[in-house]
Amino acid sequence: MSLHRIVEAQRAYFNTGATKPAEFRKEQLLQLKKLIEENRAALTEVVWKDLRRRHEVTEPMELGGSLEEIAYYLKNLDDWMKPTYVEPTVATLPTDKPYIVKDPKGVVLVISPWNYPVSMVLLPMIPSIAAGNTIVIKPSELSENTAILFEKLIPKYFDPKYVTIVNGGIPETTELLKERFDHIIYTGCPPVAKIIMAAAAKHLTPVTLELGGKCPVVVEDDADIEISAQRIARGKWLNCGQTCLAPDYILVSSATKPKFVAAIQKCLKEFYGGNAKESKDYSRVINQRHFDRISALLDESKGVVLAGNEESRDRSDRFIPPTVLDVEKTDPFMHDEIFGPVLPIITVKNLCESIDFINKGEKPLAAYIFTKDEAKVQRFLNETTSGGVTVNDVIMHVAVITLPFGGVGVSGMGRYRGKFGFDTFTHEKSVLQRVFA
Ligand code: NAD
Repeated sequence: MSLHRIVEAQRAYFNTGATKPAEFRKEQLLQLKKLIEENRAALTEVVWKDLRRRHEVTEPMELGGSLEEIAYYLKNLDDWMKPTYVEPTVATLPTDKPYIVKDPKGVVLVISPWNYPVSMVLLPMIPSIAAGNTIVIKPSELSENTAILFEKLIPKYFDPKYVTIVNGGIPETTELLKERFDHIIYTGCPPVAKIIMAAAAKHLTPVTLELGGKCPVVVEDDADIEISAQRIARGKWLNCGQTCLAPDYILVSSATKPKFVAAIQKCLKEFYGGNAKESKDYSRVINQRHFDRISALLDESKGVVLAGNEESRDRSDRFIPPTVLDVEKTDPFMHDEIFGPVLPIITVKNLCESIDFINKGEKPLAAYIFTKDEAKVQRFLNETTSGGVTVNDVIMHVAVITLPFGGVGVSGMGRYRGKFGFDTFTHEKSVLQRVFA
């Protein structure tokens, strides 16, 4: 079927009203739950093939996270769908009823990236279903094993006029973007986000853009350095550094740096033995293009290598060792999001310098600070802007389903997860109801 006909078939189905009742939405959420539960092994296996990430990591992160989200939606959906009655104002008569009705938007387009190829398809689907929409999904062609599996699974569990999967690369996505959607959610990098937004503008389609950026980590002298290093190392080298919320670089004083570096080196030994290449816990770079991109930066960087044996880099295996570099602020690694297993460390005098440095860059998707000092935490929150913050850990704020998730500025636009996801894919229709008397 042509892409135009796919979208038109979905719009016709949406217009029948079939997707609106709460019962239908819940049935479809349960259907998605079934898809996950009946295909656990296959879903974790394709991620292993795409990224060499262990089943034991993918299972809780990508499948567990999505199942938790479905359960949360099932529990709250009836409440969220109810009209919200609002306070009367000077413009209302005593007999007026002002309220908000929760309308589905229509046909939603989900465009996903390759780094968490299962959850980046499932997590946007959940609120789209819950809000009563139909969905066209475009998984990333780079995580091709996962994309192929979804192409087999989605039609088994969903009617194509309700949920359809379109596989392909840039040409297919470009064609798809010519169609009129009622909402587009794109997860990926800022340069492509501009293309998506420009295409959406032609139809005035609202967009949610879940992007990335350089997530800074400030390690203050008063922090527990061993615990900080453990948490930073786990977050950094998870998925070989290919996590949108991964710590991108460290800001630390010269007094604390030696202790911090020693603690990171110890973690790397503990996590991957002496040799990450042989470790089942260490993933691979997604493809050779990204391997070449990170390799070029490594070759160009003047940073002092504090961890990571350069000799072990292997293009045929897409292997880059976990690497730590002591760098200047102008190092090539400090321009764009690294999205790979390299952790640069920058030496600063104090928190003031760290904050200044962060504020000179684009607004990141997340910012992290490790300190026992509440005043420093408050100063960091007041003086920096980012999509989200975890204090004394990294990444974990995304696991809190009751918090909104999204970026700010170049790291993204809009938010989803939990109730915020339901609201994103819902049109809040204002109603003022009057009587004749
Ligand atoms: P990618 O290359 O897989 O691209 C994402 C999607 O965009 C794919 O489906 C791809 O087909 C499509 N696409 C690529 N180029 C296109 C073009 N020219 N026109 C139309 N469509 C196009 O993924 P990526 O961009 O490399 O993903 C990595 C980025 O995603 C990183 O910046 C990361 O931080 C970010 N990310 C953000 C989140 C978040 O929730 N904020 C989550 C994961 C990844």
